[in-house]
Amino acid sequence: MTKNEAKPTFAKASAGKKAYSPSSIEPKWQAKWSESGIYQPNLKTAKRPFYNLMMFPYPSAEGLHIGSIFTFGGVDVYGRFKRMQGNDVFEPIGLDGFGIHSENHALKTGSHPFEHAKRTEENFYRQLHTTGISYAWKNKLETYDPAYYKWTQWLFIELFKAGLAYKKKSPVNFCPSCKTVLADEQVIDGKCERCNSVVEKKDLEQWFFKITNFADRLLGNIEGLNWTEKVKIAQKNWIGKKEGINIAYDVEGSKEEIVVFTTRPDTNFGATFIALAPEHPLALQLTGENKKSEVAAYIDRAMQKSEIERGAEGKEKTGVFTGAYAINQLTGYRMPIWISDFVLAGFGTGALVGVPGHDKRDFAFAKQFDLEIKRVVVGKDGDDSPITTIEQVQEDEGKMVNSDFLNDLDIHKATEKVMDYMEEKGYGKRVSTYHLRDWLISRQRYWGPPIPMIYCEKCAQEGKSWFSVAGKEVENASAMVGWYPAEDLPVELPYVEDYKPMGTGKAPLANYPEFYEVTCPHCGSKATRETDVSDTFLDSAWYFFRYISTDRSDVPFDVELAKKWLPVTMYIGGAEHSVLHLLYARFITMVLHDLGYINFEEPFARFYAHGLIIKDGAKMSKSKGNVINPDVYIAKFGADAVRCYLLFLGPFNQGGDFRDTGIEGMSRFLKRVWSLFADGVISSEVSLSSAAGSMMHETIKGVTEDMEELRFNTVIAKLMTYYNFLVKQERVSQEEVEVYLKLLAPFAPHMTEEIWEMIGNEFSIHTSSWPQYDEELIVKDVITIPVQVNGKLRATLAVSKDEVGNERMIHERAEKEEGVIKFLEGKSVKKFIYVPGKVVNFVVA
Ligand SMILES: [Zn+2]
Ligand SMILES: [Zn+2]
Repeated sequence: MTKNEAKPTFAKASAGKKAYSPSSIEPKWQAKWSESGIYQPNLKTAKRPFYNLMMFPYPSAEGLHIGSIFTFGGVDVYGRFKRMQGNDVFEPIGLDGFGIHSENHALKTGSHPFEHAKRTEENFYRQLHTTGISYAWKNKLETYDPAYYKWTQWLFIELFKAGLAYKKKSPVNFCPSCKTVLADEQVIDGKCERCNSVVEKKDLEQWFFKITNFADRLLGNIEGLNWTEKVKIAQKNWIGKKEGINIAYDVEGSKEEIVVFTTRPDTNFGATFIALAPEHPLALQLTGENKKSEVAAYIDRAMQKSEIERGAEGKEKTGVFTGAYAINQLTGYRMPIWISDFVLAGFGTGALVGVPGHDKRDFAFAKQFDLEIKRVVVGKDGDDSPITTIEQVQEDEGKMVNSDFLNDLDIHKATEKVMDYMEEKGYGKRVSTYHLRDWLISRQRYWGPPIPMIYCEKCAQEGKSWFSVAGKEVENASAMVGWYPAEDLPVELPYVEDYKPMGTGKAPLANYPEFYEVTCPHCGSKATRETDVSDTFLDSAWYFFRYISTDRSDVPFDVELAKKWLPVTMYIGGAEHSVLHLLYARFITMVLHDLGYINFEEPFARFYAHGLIIKDGAKMSKSKGNVINPDVYIAKFGADAVRCYLLFLGPFNQGGDFRDTGIEGMSRFLKRVWSLFADGVISSEVSLSSAAGSMMHETIKGVTEDMEELRFNTVIAKLMTYYNFLVKQERVSQEEVEVYLKLLAPFAPHMTEEIWEMIGNEFSIHTSSWPQYDEELIVKDVITIPVQVNGKLRATLAVSKDEVGNERMIHERAEKEEGVIKFLEGKSVKKFIYVPGKVVNFVVA
């Protein structure tokens, strides 16, 4: 509508005739939305696809807590805003329900995971239905549904066929409480991500995905992602690329050599010892006969320790000398070869070269075992004295000394020069190393998709694999010989009574020969099915592909729809999944890209990390007893009030502290909005004053900008300010009401829909278009003038600068102010005083 177009207005209602009753209007609209399908875009014909997705929920048996409504609600507010802007918004929902967490809960409560999952699912969907979220319910999915995990297993086979899944014996993280192995990403500071137990190392044969093949691409793409910065940094650090050199040292009197990775080869003139991880393959081999039992005992003890125990700073270093020496080519120095548990097998080459003058940890080790300490760098302080205390260890920038052809160079130039030299001499090779290791994917638990592999001894002996049969050659096929993927997926998880984890390195399914005894699909002889299941994080690494094709049983996802709807336009979730889910989903997407299924490498165009709702300053948790169930609040105040309250609590990327009283305040606010608009009657025709027009356009502008940046709390604040403005106006026009309702609609979808209908509009406000603003109509200088009666403040007037001089208009508006009327009633006005732009005063007697 244009500025001065006459339009019907509502006289303000003095009190609501029809009371605001969320418990009756909310279910009514939920039913209508569902039946009309307004939140169910046609994925094939949609013109402006907008995939608005919340990170896959993993609901617990207790159901949603209030913090979930903050997250789910915020995602929905954004989706509704995008829908009103004319996008075909797709907002699917489902649940991630396989995995240790659910299984543990089932074990604790004595129910079976199958039944436990069913109950959790029902409760979860029931709760979500009460929140008024605009989900495309027809596309829902559950990870434990065979129709879903059939394709999770398919994915495993695709990776296997591409040479990206392999089985290998290696020292792996083992959680003694969860009784299963864990991926590195699931070990936080040496503890199990789920149960917080200290993780042990065990030598076990496990399945891995070759995520390390993608390290450089996973790293390189980060820069171009529109993601929350801290998540990008966390991924970079996790991938942890380091440039350095592998140096091969000859072992004296042996054909063996020890390869060591270092980023500081410049200090190599000061290298005085070698330390091997206890797991290093040469550890025992290099040990002289007379020391073998001592070394073996040390290795045994070290293997009992956790990585945190082994890596702890400041603790006394332990180690054992093998009796062997390696030669430092630069100096000819005979470096004793030690074994020490502070060297971790998984990092670098599992061996380090000790430079005690320039590394504090090496220094501590050298001191402990009386090894030589040399200075080869002089720092800024110019101190070139021998290094005898840990404070003197010179790790920083400086100039080379005691280093022959490197002397006087700074450490960076020296690094380049010595690397050139070592490469030229043939015992050094520049390499990049990564902190990232292959994704350990197998779990010795029950509640997950069985890994769909069959091992045939006979075929393995004959060197045959499924690939050679299919005529497909794979790079490292020999390592996979004898493994057969099943042709008829899914390999269904059988219902078994005893599903308890055993803790032996074997999964519960290994107790059920009726499951694992099969015939080889190739030669027909007796073969064995894999009994481990795959990690839950595989289930959630690809679900956003499945959502677009839940109606298809013949393909994991429709490639044409994937082109159209993916990558996910807006992805919202917790930052705690930076190196878990978000990394795995990127990896799986890259694999699907390389296999030719999709034309993009990155799954999430934009990722936004939301904040957390806390209670009394603490994170909500069952153990603290401060978990808030949203059901009671929704029943009492309605979903609209709960949604608005939570999103008003604090910035969406930070969260806030939950309080009962706050929710009551929000409920009162919605009631006031209701009574201002819902009972209005068309009484006359007026145009918006320029102050009112300005306020409206300014509000639309502010709200629109805030919505784009997910600043939901400030949107609500602006709507409160606008309400306070409107409630003081004599007349509120239809346009103002409609604009107000539209701006509020994403937050309070039920109430706004009800009023929308009451004032004569067609269903639905949620498919109406988002209000536009006209910058020209925003008057920057709106002045608020206090209105007094006998010197006492009774009201305020919002007046634009060009109206300040219009005394007659100001007089008329002032005497009609609600707060003023009652003080003028039955009195006679002796004097009207107006100080332009400053104050209005009625003197009455
Ligand atoms: Zn655990
Ligand atoms: Zn066979």
